[in-house]
Amino acid sequence: MDVSRTAPPTEMDPQRWGPTDCAEPLAPAARGLVELAFGLAETPPAPLGTPPADGLPAAVRTALVDLLGPAHVDDGDALRRLRTAGKSTPDLLRARAGDVADAPDLVVRPADHDQVQAVLDLAVAHRVAVVPFGGGTGVVGGVAGGRTAREAGLAGALSLDLVRLDSLLALDEVSLTATLGAGLRGPAAEALLAEHGLVLGHYPQSFEHASIGGFAATRSSGQASAGYGRFDAMVVGLRAATPRGQWRLGVAPASAAGPDLRQVLLGSEGAFGVVTEVTVRVRRAPSSARFGGWRLPDFAAATTAVRTLAQEGLLPTVLRISDETETALNLADPSAVGEAASAGCLVVVDVEGSARHVARRWEEVAEVLAAHGGTDLGAGPGEAWRDGRFHGPYLRDALLDVGVLVETLETATFWSGVDGLKAAVTDAVSASLGDGTLVLCHVSHVYETGCSLYFTVAAPGGQDRAARWGAAKAAACEAIVAAGGTITHHHAVGRDHRPWLHHEVGDVGVGVLRALKAELDPTGVLNPGVLVP
Ligand SMILES: Cc1cc2nc3c(=O)[nH]c(=O)nc-3n(C[C@H](O)[C@H](O)[C@H](O)COP(=O)(O)OP(=O)(O)OC[C@H]3O[C@@H](n4cnc5c(N)ncnc54)[C@H](O)[C@@H]3O)c2cc1C
Repeated sequence: MDVSRTAPPTEMDPQRWGPTDCAEPLAPAARGLVELAFGLAETPPAPLGTPPADGLPAAVRTALVDLLGPAHVDDGDALRRLRTAGKSTPDLLRARAGDVADAPDLVVRPADHDQVQAVLDLAVAHRVAVVPFGGGTGVVGGVAGGRTAREAGLAGALSLDLVRLDSLLALDEVSLTATLGAGLRGPAAEALLAEHGLVLGHYPQSFEHASIGGFAATRSSGQASAGYGRFDAMVVGLRAATPRGQWRLGVAPASAAGPDLRQVLLGSEGAFGVVTEVTVRVRRAPSSARFGGWRLPDFAAATTAVRTLAQEGLLPTVLRISDETETALNLADPSAVGEAASAGCLVVVDVEGSARHVARRWEEVAEVLAAHGGTDLGAGPGEAWRDGRFHGPYLRDALLDVGVLVETLETATFWSGVDGLKAAVTDAVSASLGDGTLVLCHVSHVYETGCSLYFTVAAPGGQDRAARWGAAKAAACEAIVAAGGTITHHHAVGRDHRPWLHHEVGDVGVGVLRALKAELDPTGVLNPGVLVP
């Protein structure tokens, strides 16, 4: 799979996905369609405001400069503005309104684990919040923290940028494990491994900009999870800096030495420590890949077919189902959106590995899909998906520019609950946003016991897009909880999903999370406000 895009720029535009010059206006045909469906209201971003006055004690700044050098301690408004939010639509809408109230006081760039530990020790001593920053692509309100820190009575907030932790630190070509610096972005990590004929295989849609430490801290899942697994399944070891000191975990491929404490750091979103190194299992780069698409009669047939593949151990590398509405947009004449039922459901498949494995698995997958009424559409839809799979975020910007409300949300459940959960979320979001709302759904992560559901929502913008989405998202979260789904399959908890976490982990679980926080971060400086209810 060719994933070699140009190296990511260090800084992203807080008002968009990607760097400032990345805007891609809607193509004329798409613009016509959008006007028909949602109306057009040109809504260019306002200039970014001025971040709150930096309230850090001078002693902290001096100590950080002594520790890291002046080039790696930045309190300029320009950079502080860029660190003011992640990449959810609410984040972008706030930034597009010029709001930078969540900016940190300082951005610091330590060079290695020891410097990260020293920054943490300083932060504890001076009661300053530390918000780890990987790629800044998080979508659950975990990336910024200036406002929360100030409200919590802390002396200020540091954005701890891991960008300089960007090396391949160790490679065990016998065991096939690699130790990667937490700040490595997706493409850079794959490029380093490719020099050794190896591949990690983690390709979330945010791949271009997201980091190895961020993948671990959010328990990310990539588009090729059917073949390579979720990111947390790839991790064999971790090194973290915590206010209690260094924490290294993972001495063997498997262990019965009590609970698996690596799971305390995986998904911890900077609340329990700063992940500095991640040891992952890697694979030999595949020599062959084949993409294709099938049309299944409907969503029920498609999920049954995919469940069969998962339960019979026949999974390809990439496997995704678009529901009828998403299929109508992807596959059919876009004007047929209203007649979605006729389009059936598109299933995209990619098989990677040796030529022998690809040929055999392809045949097995084709047999199951055909048995469930699938029609082979050839390579076209699969290759089109491959070529466009990192493009969605740029389209979101273009839609926000013309006043449309657009956002995604995700969950997962067991196979027996898929239809109920899909209907519940669709109904909740549609009822909240009202007439003209389009809700698309796809399945892109499958397991023997169930799958994820990923919704893309578009609606006429109206007066206050942020408030309208806030209400719709709350309705969706309530519906997810009521239908028994998880509040997040791969985006993590952050500040946005925290109000619903107790439904999932119970009072005992909340108590355990609080106890972990108290033990690992007794002064509460680590990314305050995320994850722990
Ligand atoms: C358009 C778009 C598409 C996306 N697609 C996917 C997808 O396909 N699959 C998926 O799983 N997610 C996806 N995401 C969500 C996001 O990209 C992931 O959560 C990603 O793992 C975040 O990585 P990051 O390096 O950008 O982390 P950041 O955004 O920098 O940080 C996320 C959180 O982790 C903490 N953190 C970051 N680095 C560390 C560290 N080293 N130690 C401790 N804490 C740390 C931060 O403080 C923050 O709370 C998408 C997001 C967008 C905007």
